[in-house]
Amino acid sequence: MQNLCVLGATGSIGISTLDVVRRHSDKYKVVSLSANTRVDEMHALCVEFKPETVVMVDELSAQQLKLKLLQDDLHSTEVLSGHSELSALSSSDNVDVVMAAIVGASGLLPTLAAVKSDKKVLLANKEALVTSGQIFIDALKNSNAQLLPIDSEHNAIFQCLPTNMQNNMGMAGIADSGISKILLTGSGGPFRTLPLEQFADITPQQACAHPNWDMGRKISVDSATMMNKGLEFIEAKWLFNLEPEDIQVVLHPQSTIHSMVQYKDGSVLAQMGNPDMRTPIAHALAFPQRIASGVEPFDFFNCKNFEFAQADFERYPNLELAINACKAGQGACTALNAANEIAVEAFLNNDISFVEIAKVNKVVMNQFINININTIDDVTDLDNKARIAAKRHVLNIKEDS
Ligand code: NAD
Ligand code: MG
Repeated sequence: MQNLCVLGATGSIGISTLDVVRRHSDKYKVVSLSANTRVDEMHALCVEFKPETVVMVDELSAQQLKLKLLQDDLHSTEVLSGHSELSALSSSDNVDVVMAAIVGASGLLPTLAAVKSDKKVLLANKEALVTSGQIFIDALKNSNAQLLPIDSEHNAIFQCLPTNMQNNMGMAGIADSGISKILLTGSGGPFRTLPLEQFADITPQQACAHPNWDMGRKISVDSATMMNKGLEFIEAKWLFNLEPEDIQVVLHPQSTIHSMVQYKDGSVLAQMGNPDMRTPIAHALAFPQRIASGVEPFDFFNCKNFEFAQADFERYPNLELAINACKAGQGACTALNAANEIAVEAFLNNDISFVEIAKVNKVVMNQFINININTIDDVTDLDNKARIAAKRHVLNIKEDS
């Protein structure tokens, strides 16, 4: 029996994780859960899984949850609030496995706390790695933690790697394993064929309607701008100890292949399946074993197309920005991620247009591109500064329009 902590339990990944866990109550016990504000959803999870501890980051939400549990006569769950409680939760002695599924840089400290306390860490929260890079990998090196990627592309790559690389995440080199390239696939999102002149009119609702994947709102917008692929490019660099030149982005609209590894001898290994996050979640939970995930087997006879293309930077300027950030260094990556979180939120609030997301990101990234990052305090400091700068640009855009 493994004790599980799910950070971001009420989100898309959190819900999929608990759906897999529900099928294997003989193997996994849910001991702790966290969420930000979704009280009703968390209440239902408490009734079902009876965790020992729950953190609602928002204090009012924690109070409301306590009240609801009292009304149900459910006294076994302790409810805490505040961001600092998240790290206590993920590093607690009673936890073996941590699903890091908070969205955005808010997940960094609790994810890092899990690594430092030697947990098996299932990493969905790509922003944590993007914002801290080498610091995160150094913490992993200095711990007995095991890091397993949940992002479908990175999980696919992981599955196509030799064992020595799987067991040395962030450290082993690809050349020693006979690998020539990592092929990072992406669907291209909902606007792959939309005429460019219509981009300024894209609404949040359209951007959140991904053709293949059902995800949280932030990552859905990131998928539409392909900033998601850009963040994944940076994530891949750190997870697999790559140079930017080792990674090739490949558009594959059907999302059947979830990414590939190309070897020196010409072999290309691909991981395929239906686009459902329960597959990578089940893979990582059970690794090196396999368990059922609830995902339907892939039907090759119903698979009509199998297309591949280059990504066009005119259509996806955010992808180019992220690749440039990856080449430029940590300051650029941390600033770009922070700016993007603010710009996406502003777009979702109808404060800026879809095309202005990349404009905010570019200005803020260039402003901080030369900042050196050596410690986690440097990361949080730059993250704060970049958010302030991004908010200022959003305000300027609003005032001008
Ligand atoms: P989501 O918006 O559906 O859920 C986010 C979760 O984080 C919720 O439980 C929410 O309560 C919590 N949260 C939000 N803000 C918080 C804060 N400031 N502090 C603490 N908790 C907070 O997001 P999601 O789609 O599940 O994505 C979660 C992470 O997984 C993201 O980093 C995303 O990039 C990554 N990911 C998601 C998918 C997917 O299919 N959804 C695929 C690959 C990677
Ligand atoms: Mg992904």
